[in-house]
Amino acid sequence: MNQPLNFSLMASVSKLADELDAQQFPQSALYVIATPIGNVSDISLRALKVLNMVDAIACEDTRNTSQLLTRYGISKKCFAAHQHNERSVAEKIVQQLQEGLRIALVSDAGTPGISDPGAQIVHAVLEAGLQVIPIPGASAAIAALSCSGFLSNEFYFVGFLPAKNKQRETELAKLSNIKATLVLYEAPHRIIETITSLALVFGSERKILIARELSKLFEQIHRCSLGSAITWFQQDENRQRGEFVLLIEGAASLSSDEDSEAERILGILLEDCSVSQAATLAARITGKKKNTLYELALALQQKSDIAKDENH
Ligand code: SAM
Repeated sequence: MNQPLNFSLMASVSKLADELDAQQFPQSALYVIATPIGNVSDISLRALKVLNMVDAIACEDTRNTSQLLTRYGISKKCFAAHQHNERSVAEKIVQQLQEGLRIALVSDAGTPGISDPGAQIVHAVLEAGLQVIPIPGASAAIAALSCSGFLSNEFYFVGFLPAKNKQRETELAKLSNIKATLVLYEAPHRIIETITSLALVFGSERKILIARELSKLFEQIHRCSLGSAITWFQQDENRQRGEFVLLIEGAASLSSDEDSEAERILGILLEDCSVSQAATLAARITGKKKNTLYELALALQQKSDIAKDENH
């Protein structure tokens, strides 16, 4: 049953808030604060405490942050810190910190610096010998990974791929042998093109997790193969709307000895055969799984195509 937040729970929250008052929040520090990625309740008590106590907040977009602050009854001086003014704002923040102020840094949603502005400001503050304190919380990548079900313990954060097909596919070819789960961010207007490139470069068998609108009303988490992902999007156009994290299962694992032997055999076969024929023959020669060899053959073919392109 969906239990309402009851009085004793609220009392505990209030006690925890009191405990926060006893904690140290140094002056002359930049506080990098994660904010919700959709559900406004996904913010920590510590984040609220710091937002309420700092002297000013550097925001990717002051209007978005003001809405969040209003929901929590916080009134605070905000100023813009986005990708177009990050350098000059970094200098201003350093000055303010040197005067003993506490400044918070937030982006529109999630964790600053993760496919969001913030890195240059953090860099400048550290260069000036000042303190940077993270206030952890939501990040779309971590939320998606936490429910992926993929067994790899490793992940490789890619973020946004290039917008143009050719550059995107060149980038994907470089990533195709990575065994860690790949983490991508994508916008709705490019989701179909990106899925098409993924299936083309990685092959249709690889698994994908599509995490759409995480923590929001129309949240959807769908697991399928790259080959069937386009059909899933086409079945309902609403599925192409909103924000997406894409997780791609890492390249199937061969041991490194097996890898180089399989690569050698595939390299020879690819001189005369298609990717599919090379994988079939290599599977007969090595006794390894055809799908695994197909992925390896595809990656080798892509690499050799890129090398040919670059030589022209
Ligand atoms: N800094 C943010 C973080 O920590 O997740 C990411 C900012 S990046 C500019 C925005 C992208 O993150 C979106 O295009 C989408 O790919 C992903 N994203 C953000 N919120 C999301 C959500 N609620 N559900 C799915 N993806 C989301």
